[in-house]
Amino acid sequence: MKHGERLNALRASITAPILVSRAPNLQYLTGFTGSNGFLLVRPSGAAVFITDGRYGELAKALVADLSDTELIVYTSGMWDVFRKVVGGLDSVALEADGVTWAFSSDFARETAVDTVAGGGSVEALRRTKDSVEIAALGAAAAAGDAAFTALRTIAGGAVSEKQLGWRLIDVMREHGGDAAEWEPIVAAGAGASIPHYRAGEKRVGSGLLLLDYGCVVDGYHSDMSRTVWLEGEADEEMTRVYRAVLESQEAGLARVAPGVACGAVDEAAREVLRGYGYEEQFLHSTGHGVGLEIHEPPWVRRGNDDLLEVGDVITVEPGVYIPGAGGVRIEDMIVVTESGGSVLTGSHKEFTLGA
Ligand code: ZN
Repeated sequence: MKHGERLNALRASITAPILVSRAPNLQYLTGFTGSNGFLLVRPSGAAVFITDGRYGELAKALVADLSDTELIVYTSGMWDVFRKVVGGLDSVALEADGVTWAFSSDFARETAVDTVAGGGSVEALRRTKDSVEIAALGAAAAAGDAAFTALRTIAGGAVSEKQLGWRLIDVMREHGGDAAEWEPIVAAGAGASIPHYRAGEKRVGSGLLLLDYGCVVDGYHSDMSRTVWLEGEADEEMTRVYRAVLESQEAGLARVAPGVACGAVDEAAREVLRGYGYEEQFLHSTGHGVGLEIHEPPWVRRGNDDLLEVGDVITVEPGVYIPGAGGVRIEDMIVVTESGGSVLTGSHKEFTLGA
C-alpha cells in the first residue's frame, strides 16, 4: 500500500485530530526515518507534517507523495509552529506511547489546546501487513537463516558469546540485513536459563548454546531463536527439555490460523509444556507481533482473545529455563494466511549439530 493510501486509511479511522510522533508510525505513514517529525492528521482536511531543518529535504520529497499534506520545516520557534497548526482545534490526541511527560505538558501549556492520551490508531493499521511488508520481513528472516547456517563455521573458532553475536550480525549484513537496535542474545551453557541473557566474554564452542537474534530490512525486523548442542554428547536433561520445547513450538505454529484467538495459540504451546511438567519453567508468553517494531501487537499471550487475522505476522517462541543448568527456546516468525500460517524463518531445528 502506498503511503498516501495509508494516510487516507488513518483519516478514515479517526474521529478527532491526532499528532503522530512515534518513529515507526511516521515511517509507516510517510516513509520518514528521521529522529524528529510530527504529522497532524484530522478526520478530514489537510494533514501537516512538521520537522526541523535537518530533515527538510527528506521530508519535502516524502510529503510530495502524500495526498493533501502540508509541510512545515522550522529552524527555531517550534512552539510557534504548533500554536499555528493546532490553534482553533478543540483537542489533539498525542500518542501516549510516543511523547514524554515533559513534551505533553509543554504542548498543553504552549498551545492552550486540550490534549488527550491517544495512540493505537496507526498501530492498528500497521498490524495487517501487505505483500511488500511481508517480502521485507521474509528477507530479514532469510538473512537470519543465513547467519544460522553459518553457525558451525563462526562458532568453530571458540569465540566468546559477544564475538559470536557480532559475527551473526556480519553474516546478516552480508545477506542484506541491517543491524537491529538490539544485540543478539548468545547464551552458552547455564546462561541459557536466563531468557534475556546478556552476551558476555564466556567462550562458546561446545555444549549448550541459545541464540535469539534478528536484523532489519527496509525497517522491518526479523526475530528468531534456536538452541543447539554444539559438540559432544548432549546432556540428558537438556535433550528432554529440547524435545518438549520443540513439540510445544510446533503445536503453537500448527494452531495459527485466521479467526483463532492469540490466547489459543499460547495455550496450544503451553499445554505441551504442561504435559512434560515444565509449565512453571516457561517464563514468558508464547509470542508477539513483529514488523516495524520488534515487539508489536498482536500479543500471543495467555487469555488474549484477540483473533488472528490474515496479514498478521507473529512469533511463536516457547522456552523452558532450568536455573543453573540451561534453557531452550525455539522461535519462528509466521505470517497468518487464508489457509493457516506460513513460516518465514526456515532454519533447521536439530538439537545436536553433529560433527
Ligand atoms: Zn521474539
